[in-house]
Amino acid sequence: MTVGQQDEFLNYIDGEWTRSRTGRTFDNVNPADTGDIVGRFQASSAEDARAAVAAAAAAFQAWKRTPISRRAAILNRAADHLEANAEAIAGELTREEGKPLNLSKDEVLRSAQTLRFYAVEGQTFGGETFPQDDPEMLVYMLREPLGVVTVISPWNFPVSIPARKIAPALITGNTVVFKPSSDAPLSGYRLAEALVKGGLPKGVLNFITGSAGEIGPTITESAPVRAISFTGSTRAGEQIHRAVPMTTRTQMELGGKNPLIVMEDADLDKAVDLTIKGGFSLSGQACTGTSRVLVVSSVRAAYTERLLARVKALKIGSGMTPGMDVGPLATRRQLETVLGYIDVGKREATLLCGGERLTADGMDKGFYVSPAVFTDVMQGMRIATEEIFGPVIAIIECADYADAIAKANDTDYGLSAAIVTSNPRHIQQFAADIESGTVKINRTTTGNLVNAPFGGLKRSSTSTFRESGRAGLEFYTQTKTVYRGC
Ligand code: NAP
Repeated sequence: MTVGQQDEFLNYIDGEWTRSRTGRTFDNVNPADTGDIVGRFQASSAEDARAAVAAAAAAFQAWKRTPISRRAAILNRAADHLEANAEAIAGELTREEGKPLNLSKDEVLRSAQTLRFYAVEGQTFGGETFPQDDPEMLVYMLREPLGVVTVISPWNFPVSIPARKIAPALITGNTVVFKPSSDAPLSGYRLAEALVKGGLPKGVLNFITGSAGEIGPTITESAPVRAISFTGSTRAGEQIHRAVPMTTRTQMELGGKNPLIVMEDADLDKAVDLTIKGGFSLSGQACTGTSRVLVVSSVRAAYTERLLARVKALKIGSGMTPGMDVGPLATRRQLETVLGYIDVGKREATLLCGGERLTADGMDKGFYVSPAVFTDVMQGMRIATEEIFGPVIAIIECADYADAIAKANDTDYGLSAAIVTSNPRHIQQFAADIESGTVKINRTTTGNLVNAPFGGLKRSSTSTFRESGRAGLEFYTQTKTVYRGC
């Protein structure tokens, strides 16, 4: 497709939609059809990034003093805009990221729900008073915003992840610099646009696209930046965390290697269903996606047989085609990574199905891989240890509950973990035994609520502040304790 002027998307800095001072752009490519350029985005420089940070700093004092009811009204109007345009935004999301259209629409509506949640919850998020002996004194703790905060998001949930970071930042009175993933910038653009249309004053939200190498250091290490909320790979998150000043607050939500344990008393159809949903929806590109299945020996054969029957029946194709179960991988880099791990897995273990680059029926134009299931996977193998972030499941045999827990915990990560069992003792014990920030019992490893805290343990997170729910508001506020006499 020829890209015309109308397909160029601009930065939003200090209340203006602007081109990068570099004059350069980069292309956003449809992973289902690489001949389709979804849009052309600004390849911003450090100078553009400095302008974004400066605009956010200049806008802070006035935004902090803006009545909270007015801040909430802006979030609600932005939610209205997302809901009114959900079909169109979902279509763009699928076109740039690849996930099935129904999941894109869910994501857009969930993002609107997030904005509305914080519009309400932010207005009840206050300090507290402390009882004490002196009748002429009032002792209380007040909360105030931090200042300029930077939001950096990945491509796999390009609307809902920035929404759950930006909404609590804004409602508590912070100003924001938002950098979306270079692999799915259009959805983030639509979120920024919704907030601008909602009535945000200039400088309060600054949207900037460009490569991490060019603009990353400026938006994370500049003096006015008081906090960074980052979601992405453990490698990038740890690098940013090490580089920023000690006084910069960080919230890093990172990678995972999420286990699903299948016990001998599990409903096997349910276990298979949860494996399919957790491992293959979004083509395995969910941070909480199931990548290891720890199956107790006595049910391994029966579980594996039922799983293979379901996996082989999955429909693979463009997310725009109704009824598809698995879309393409989101980027060429992701395709190469996943195929690389499948080669590693073939050397380390036994491939039972899938794992092929698909090219028939026009799929050669996209990044399609058939869902792969490996068995005979042992602890310490790379496919049992490293995050693949693709449609690949590793089946690991376990002797019993204790062995399954030991193997599940034998990882650097701790994002999400699930067990399928009907044993009341294991149902009771699992949350205590598993080293994971999200714990699921007879549920899939994926999925989390807007109003409940979310985050990982170990190298899946900085584990400082949780996202989502009321916990999401804490990250963006600091407290003062006041002793007020007469
Ligand atoms: P990524 O490569 O780490 O990139 C994430 C974001 O960080 C992108 O916007 C990227 O910009 C930016 N970035 C990378 N290095 C940076 C730096 N040094 N300074 C500033 N910004 C930097 O991750 P991804 O491939 O987009 O996403 C997949 C990863 O995200 C997986 O590991 C997955 O587990 C994780 N994830 C975690 C969660 C969670 O809640 N725990 C949720 C979703 C995804 P560019 O695009 O310009 O490189």
